[in-house]
Amino acid sequence: MQLIDTHSHLYDEAFDADRHAALERAHDAGVHWLLLPAIDSESHDALFMLCRKAPNCCLPMMGLHPTSINDNPRWREELALVEKYLDNPPTGIRFCAVGEIGLDFYWSQESINEQTEAFVAQLRMAAKRDLPVAIHTRAAWEQMSSIIASEYRAAKQRGERLRGVFHAYSEDAATYRQLKELTEGNFYFGIGGVVTYKKSIVAEAVREMALEDLILETDCPYLTPVPHRGTRNESAYVSHTAQKVAELQGISVEQVADQTTRNAATLFGINSEISE
Ligand SMILES: [Zn+2]
Repeated sequence: MQLIDTHSHLYDEAFDADRHAALERAHDAGVHWLLLPAIDSESHDALFMLCRKAPNCCLPMMGLHPTSINDNPRWREELALVEKYLDNPPTGIRFCAVGEIGLDFYWSQESINEQTEAFVAQLRMAAKRDLPVAIHTRAAWEQMSSIIASEYRAAKQRGERLRGVFHAYSEDAATYRQLKELTEGNFYFGIGGVVTYKKSIVAEAVREMALEDLILETDCPYLTPVPHRGTRNESAYVSHTAQKVAELQGISVEQVADQTTRNAATLFGINSEISE
């Protein structure tokens, strides 16, 4: 069984004591690729270092996280740095996506305009370079949807294609259908540990979602799936999410692994590497 953790923060200091062991546990669980979203310049060094050390299993993204914009007078410099890196990646680094980017109005609503500006700018950076985006949304699903709707159309008019993943998808089936329609099937839905929680809205949605639209992720060290809930999350645990999706869809875990791995490989351009 082959899995891809499409959203892992293995470079986070939560793994300073056992990063290598966590990577080995991921491999043992069948997770052969870890896609690592960037947050901001404070963690770029750790991100690049990990990807250089493990180039055959760790692929970085580049982007400015919405919560890094709150209370940050230097956010425009951070945004400029993202574009600089996309045009001139550091030695030994290839970015597989622009991420993570998006809107997060949960912690603070004071930077709505700044977050929106940075989000739109990064969506355009991605479309221009034909890179997928990894979108973080918290307490902002409606605002995010309307920006995606207009940016998707605008990109199309420019002859570009906006595509990517709604990371940590946590909404219902109706929202899934809306988002799928307005992006004409060019976006995937990132399913993580939340799907294993009791009374999870997204678990109900997954019963109705097409397997062709799903990719799997952990968002480690956060959002730990059952049965490890309450402890640190890690990429190996993406197998629990695969198992839960299989249960909800009434199919085998191998089918889930196969299709979601193929989906992720297609979206992030890792087809050739995965067949090696
Ligand atoms: Zn994340």
